[in-house]
Amino acid sequence: MKDVKIEDIHARKILDSRGNPTIEVDVLATNTSQKKEIGRAAAPSGASRGVHEVVAFPNDSPETSIKELEEIIPNLKGSSISDQTDFDKKLRELDGTPNLSKIGGNAIVALSMAAAKAVSEVENVPLFKRLNKNDNYELPYPLGNVLGGGEHAGTTAPDIQEFLSLPIDARNFEQAAFANAKVHKRVRKFANEEDKAFTGGKSDEGAWAPNISDDKALEIVAKACEEISNELGFEIRAGLDVAASSLFDSEKGKYKYKREGKFRDTGEQIEFILDCIESYNLAYVEDPIEEDFESFAEIKDKAGESCLICGDDIFVTNVERINRGIELDAANAVLIKPNQIGTLTATKKAVDLTKENGYVPVISHRSGETTDTTISHLAVGYGCPIIKTGAVGGERIAKLNELIRIEEKLGEKAKMGDIF
Ligand code: PGA
Ligand code: ZN
Repeated sequence: MKDVKIEDIHARKILDSRGNPTIEVDVLATNTSQKKEIGRAAAPSGASRGVHEVVAFPNDSPETSIKELEEIIPNLKGSSISDQTDFDKKLRELDGTPNLSKIGGNAIVALSMAAAKAVSEVENVPLFKRLNKNDNYELPYPLGNVLGGGEHAGTTAPDIQEFLSLPIDARNFEQAAFANAKVHKRVRKFANEEDKAFTGGKSDEGAWAPNISDDKALEIVAKACEEISNELGFEIRAGLDVAASSLFDSEKGKYKYKREGKFRDTGEQIEFILDCIESYNLAYVEDPIEEDFESFAEIKDKAGESCLICGDDIFVTNVERINRGIELDAANAVLIKPNQIGTLTATKKAVDLTKENGYVPVISHRSGETTDTTISHLAVGYGCPIIKTGAVGGERIAKLNELIRIEEKLGEKAKMGDIF
């Protein structure tokens, strides 16, 4: 394979789906035959960020981040990007901090992904294929956000951040993506019935955000999943992202449920989550508890085999933290967000460690997104059986539709992944 090198890099500030600034990077690459192509990638940004994530922007400033990145461009011009590991190592060294606080994790991840895409363009091979050379492609099941609350929605919405739909036995990706869209529509109908003043307000990720309790939200999402499941003839189950760290009041040491005007201590929180799993036959619960490995392990142990207990803020796509979770048997799924850890190489390591230990890697968007579709390629390239990327909305369907195209391109070779 001909070596691909960086000819130039350009970073710009662009809008994310919340209207906040984020960073997009273009990498102009060339090979020995002088074929030139651009790889472009943008970083998303979270609202309920884990405290152990890399720093998104130095001093919260995308402008400073771009300035810092521009300073390293002369060191990167002429660098080979055919080997992603070497390139990502160089990026880390140029930043020089363990949490990427000099240049910023968002700029670094956008550059890391843009370089990978530039090589794909020059070699004329889709990114998912370049990342997975064994010719065994599995499409992920989409985990769709259909009702939202917490830090992603207004003050009258539920306290739990995300109520999700998972079409676990859809025969193909396209069918699964449309199933989630149907559940989303059905949830709107039920939300109108439960909240007479509901005007169709949505959360940051395009999920409905009515003025209803957590219990009511769970009830209508489970009912919508069941009805659509019966209509389509395959199983669709509900899930949650509790985002418990954002409910946790560290002074009181308790979880604050403002709608009910009540606090739950750790024992009550565990009991509440286990009750939800049992009452609504949940297939997936993310961050049911704050970053507390032992309580996570207790939930995982008691939840049973048919529910994934997934760690997001607790693991932050970081292999040391994932390893600690594995030692304590704290979960059975890991949320994978490239910008939590900063490079594609580190993301791949997190996915590999997750899979080697029989945990399910769930590749994920962030609440603040762009139309970038890199995670769709990572899902298939790295073999993640679930992708969490919303159900509707321009920046969410960009990723879903890219997977529909990948499935179409693969034709007969496309298979669905294995969750349970
Ligand atoms: P974030 O949340 O992107 O706002 O951090 C998404 C999630 O918690 O999964
Ligand atoms: Zn989460």
